[in-house]
Amino acid sequence: MTLISIDGVSRRFGEVTALDSVSLDIRQGEFFALLGPSGCGKTTLLRILAGFEQPDTGSVRLDGADLLAIPAHRRPVNLMFQSYALFPHMSVEKNVAYGLERERLPRAEIRERVGAVLETVGLTAQARRRPHELSGGQRQRVALARAVVKRPRLLLLDEPLSALDKKVRSEMQLELKRLQHEVGITFVVVTHDQEEAMSLADRIAVMNGGRVEQVDAPADLYERPRTPFVAGFIGANNLFTGRVTEKGLEVDGLGLLPAPAGPVEGETAMLAVRPERIRLGPVTEDQGALRGRVVDVSFYGGVSHVALSLAGHDRNLLAATQGRARVETGAEVAVSWDAEDAALVPTGVSGDRR
Ligand code: ATP
Repeated sequence: MTLISIDGVSRRFGEVTALDSVSLDIRQGEFFALLGPSGCGKTTLLRILAGFEQPDTGSVRLDGADLLAIPAHRRPVNLMFQSYALFPHMSVEKNVAYGLERERLPRAEIRERVGAVLETVGLTAQARRRPHELSGGQRQRVALARAVVKRPRLLLLDEPLSALDKKVRSEMQLELKRLQHEVGITFVVVTHDQEEAMSLADRIAVMNGGRVEQVDAPADLYERPRTPFVAGFIGANNLFTGRVTEKGLEVDGLGLLPAPAGPVEGETAMLAVRPERIRLGPVTEDQGALRGRVVDVSFYGGVSHVALSLAGHDRNLLAATQGRARVETGAEVAVSWDAEDAALVPTGVSGDRR
């Protein structure tokens, strides 16, 4: 099941620790994402997998064999760059065939493989065109075709969709997923875009400051962030820091907030509440209910976002409702959520590595 096994990989550049004892496994056939803010080390990790960089310590194995001992050009690994680097004077099919020709494969085999892969990416009709006669999305597909035609065990993609505009980009996300599924090659994508990682990947490693904070399926990261960083980075969580009690999280200025059973009582923890889990209702005399004032309502078609200020809390709360929100700016509302719908994250703990 495991294709790549990364164990204790560290890499420093002078004073900067780009990777700090990174350990993770990438499974055969999965679409894996390395996600994190700029400078967190994701490109360095990708370059180590590609063979353009060596770690200071740690090991990387592919199918159990030492990958670090194999020079870049001999690895069964292909890297697709941000800029597609297509040859401008060559046709689409020549661009795709190039790598196979360099391997001196028989002509008939090259023709067959190129034809098949062009069909997979939907460019059969454009086979004779040059790159400048293609749209951005089509150029992207040529680059992909060129990368998968060599049938690598692992395909690395560095911010593959960042050059495309928003609409083409979401189309290409679907394409990329379909293609990965069809060719069955293990993909590792690097991105700083949370939504992109969530929509593409089977599993995501969230990185921060050279460390892996959590590796999980998108829905698990979303529902059960395990570190404060992940809770803040994935989605627009509403975050509260307080003390764990038997009845919920005790937050200074706000009182007792509904929270699931979690870390040890008396400990400090962070509560993450998804905007769509928040209920807004009429203010009653109920002592326990949290009160907020609506400061903004934005309608986005399918959903509405309601920003609320809470007395005693310095950050606005975000609530998301289906369709049109039934509250108005300035209104006072009761704010609630179910304890089990929120996630309790221990603070002061960094990095669950597997
Ligand atoms: P981005 O999304 O901005 O590309 P990243 O998460 O991919 O960021 P890396 O490119 O891996 O981050 O860089 C991690 C850290 O290591 C950064 O602080 C970067 O400045 C530093 N770094 C990376 N490569 C080098 C290098 N060759 N020389 C010196 N410092 C480097």
